[in-house]
Amino acid sequence: MGADKIILIDLDGVLANFNKAIADAFNKDYNEIEDNWTPGNWSIAQQLNLSEGEIWARVNKIESFWEDIELYPYAKKLVKYLKSKYEVNVCTSPSSNPACATGKMKWLLKHKFGFGRNIIITPQKHLMAGPNRILIDDMDKNCDKFKAHGGEPLLFHQVWNSGGKFDGDRLEYIKSVL
Ligand SMILES: [Mg+2]
Repeated sequence: MGADKIILIDLDGVLANFNKAIADAFNKDYNEIEDNWTPGNWSIAQQLNLSEGEIWARVNKIESFWEDIELYPYAKKLVKYLKSKYEVNVCTSPSSNPACATGKMKWLLKHKFGFGRNIIITPQKHLMAGPNRILIDDMDKNCDKFKAHGGEPLLFHQVWNSGGKFDGDRLEYIKSVL
C-alpha cells in the first residue's frame, strides 16, 4: 500500500478499550472476562450474561463513560506512526445517546491525538469506502461491507472477531500489512 492511502481508524476495540469500560461499569474483572471469551463472539453483553438493554441503560447513566475509556497501551504510538505516513481520519460509530459523540470528541482531545476535526461519526463506514481508503476496524461486518464497497479493510484482530486474539506487537503488525 502506498503513501497516498487515506486511513480511517476506528476507536472502540482499536484505540479505546471499550469492552473493559463496559466490564468496569458492571464491576467485573475485565482480564478474567477476556480470558474466558468465546472466540468470535462480538457481544460483550453475552459474555457478561446481560441483555443489550441492560448494558446501554448502565452506560447511559455514566456521564463520563466515553471520555473515560482507557486507551490501549499501543494506541498513541500506532496513531503517531500512521500519521507520519498517511492521512488519518477517525471513523467511529455513535451509540444512540447524543452524549456519546461529545464524549468521543472529548476523549480524542484529552489524549491529544491531534485529529482536529477529522472525525467521522457514523455507523455507515462503508459510505467512506473507495480506492485507496483503508478502514482499520475490529468489526467483521464493517470490514466486509467496506470491502464490498471498494475499500481496503484491515481487520484489527481481537478475540471477539474472526481475526482472533492477538498477542503480538500491534504496531509491527500494522506496519507489515500496510
Ligand atoms: Mg470498533
